[in-house]
Amino acid sequence: ERYVAGLARTRGGFVAKLARLFRGRPRVSAELRDEVESVLFTADIGAKAAQKLLDQVTDLLDKSDVADADKVWAVIRTAARQILTVPAAPLDYSPNPPPYVLLMIGVNGVGKTTTLGKLAAFHKAAGRRVLLVAGDTFRAAAGEQLEIWARRVGCEIHLGKEGADPSSVIHDGIFRGAREGFDVVLCDTAGRLHTKKELMDELQKIRRSCAKALARARGVGEAEVRGPHDTFLVLDATIGQNALAQAVLFKETMDFTGLVLTKLDGTAKGGVVLGVCDELRVPVRFIGIGEKIDDLRPFDADAFVEAMFG
Ligand code: GDP
Repeated sequence: ERYVAGLARTRGGFVAKLARLFRGRPRVSAELRDEVESVLFTADIGAKAAQKLLDQVTDLLDKSDVADADKVWAVIRTAARQILTVPAAPLDYSPNPPPYVLLMIGVNGVGKTTTLGKLAAFHKAAGRRVLLVAGDTFRAAAGEQLEIWARRVGCEIHLGKEGADPSSVIHDGIFRGAREGFDVVLCDTAGRLHTKKELMDELQKIRRSCAKALARARGVGEAEVRGPHDTFLVLDATIGQNALAQAVLFKETMDFTGLVLTKLDGTAKGGVVLGVCDELRVPVRFIGIGEKIDDLRPFDADAFVEAMFG
């Protein structure tokens, strides 16, 4: 399946390296342990997750003189599944009253706009009325790119003027979405990292404007509304451990309810998903496995482990 194909490079990277270590080595040796350690610690899964996997493997090797690859594989899979399973309620796309409002955040180039386009298609296919909101007003190209997606998907888009205040564009978009009976409002945001403080201040302002818009549309106080319903941080898997560092930086000032890992098809660094889950304990909600409209998958820990370690 595409899921498996999307992770082929990661499988061919550190996972294949691990598998090779045991081939033709019937005895557990000090050398073998060192090699396992070195593969795990250079696998882009982050030091903490690597240590967790290593502990499991070490326990097993301590108990046996035989280098049983199947058993090692089983403990690695179990430990990986534990790390990837972050308890979370299923996504609720039907709040009462509608619309479901989603903010997409992350630095430039990670795949926010593309993921929004794919998500719009996903909701459309489920029969929901979708409004895209082009909150990245700093780059004209960002709005144009989202417009192309809206056309491709066949959904509506709310565009602000170039250079307009992003939070006011998002406010107006959400207000329109609520007033015009959309089921789902998906908002893009700008991800320029001028300074961390600037970006974070702006994202906070955007978040407040979501609640303001919903309250205004319903004629209630801001304290009575919940919005956005979800905020997804998008991370580019091809940058490996830097994605982990980015996530930690965002986490310091901005709450997000889910993660999206993109470009898993183009990298051997898919192990970073383990590191991110382990470090943040925020659920991965979707993964991107290509540039096309249907190259987005809901994240599933079991399927992911299966695709990665087979
Ligand atoms: P943004 O600046 O965060 O909005 O990023 P974009 O959505 O513009 O994406 C940047 C580039 O990454 C584009 O060329 C996308 O086609 C590409 N991209 C996004 N998601 C994926 C993915 O899952 N796989 C691959 N191979 N490319 C992707």
